[in-house]
Amino acid sequence: MAEYDENWMHLVKNYLEYQVNLGFTQVILPKTRAVSLVSKKAESGSIVLESIRKELGDCKRCPLHSARLSIVFGEGNPNAELMFVGEGPGADEDREGKPFVGRAGQLLTKMIRAMGFDRSEVYIANIVKCLPPENRNPKTLEISTCLPFLKSQVTAVKPRVVVALGRIATSSLLNTTESLSNLRGQFHDFDGILLMPTYHPSFLLRQERDRKYKAEAWEHLQKVMAYLKSTHSHLESKDE
Ligand code: SF4
Repeated sequence: MAEYDENWMHLVKNYLEYQVNLGFTQVILPKTRAVSLVSKKAESGSIVLESIRKELGDCKRCPLHSARLSIVFGEGNPNAELMFVGEGPGADEDREGKPFVGRAGQLLTKMIRAMGFDRSEVYIANIVKCLPPENRNPKTLEISTCLPFLKSQVTAVKPRVVVALGRIATSSLLNTTESLSNLRGQFHDFDGILLMPTYHPSFLLRQERDRKYKAEAWEHLQKVMAYLKSTHSHLESKDE
C-alpha cells in the first residue's frame, strides 16, 4: 500500500511539474468527481447504518425492551466527523424515538452550535437504545448487550472524534472502571478514534448554579475543536 501511495504521489508530482513547464499557474480539479466521491462516502455510511438498524429489528435482547415505547437508534450525519455518545434515552427521547430531545438535548444542541456545527452535521447516539425504568443507570448486562450496535454505528460513521457524555458513556466505551474525574478533558484512544470524555448535559443542568462545570465542559469541547481545526476540517472551511 505504501509503495502504491509513493508511485501515485510520484505521478502527481510529474504531472504538476509538466503543467508548470507549460506555463499554467493553476490546476483546475474536476469538482463533480470530488463531490461524487464525498457523496458516495456519505451514502455508504448511511447504507451501513440502515443495515445495523435492520439487524437490531424489534430488539428484545436485554430486559430494557419491556418498558420502552421506542428504540432510540441515533441520528445525524452518517458521515460526521464528530459524534456524541450519551448514556441512554430519557422519557422525552423514548416518546419521540430520537436522542437528546429533552432539556438535556437542548443544552447539547447549544453546545454543538457553540462548537461551530449544526446539530444535523454531527451524529448522536447512546450507549443503550431503550429507556431504563425510572431513569436509573443502565446495568452491566444491558450495556454489554447493546454496546456492539453502537460500536458498529461508530465504525459506519467513522468520526474523527467521539465525545463521551458522562461517566456511563465514558466507562463503557473505554471499558474502564476509572472515575470520570480522572478521564475527562483528555483525549483517549477508542478503537483508533480519539475520544474526549466530558460532563453529561443533564449533570450540567443539575449544577446550573455552579458555572465552573459548564466552563470546564467548554474547555473540553475547545480541545476537540482545536484538534479538528488543526487537522483540516469543516471548522477550518467555515472560517475561510
Ligand atoms: S437496550 Fe439495546 S439490547 Fe436492550 S432491548 Fe434495547 S436495543 Fe435491545
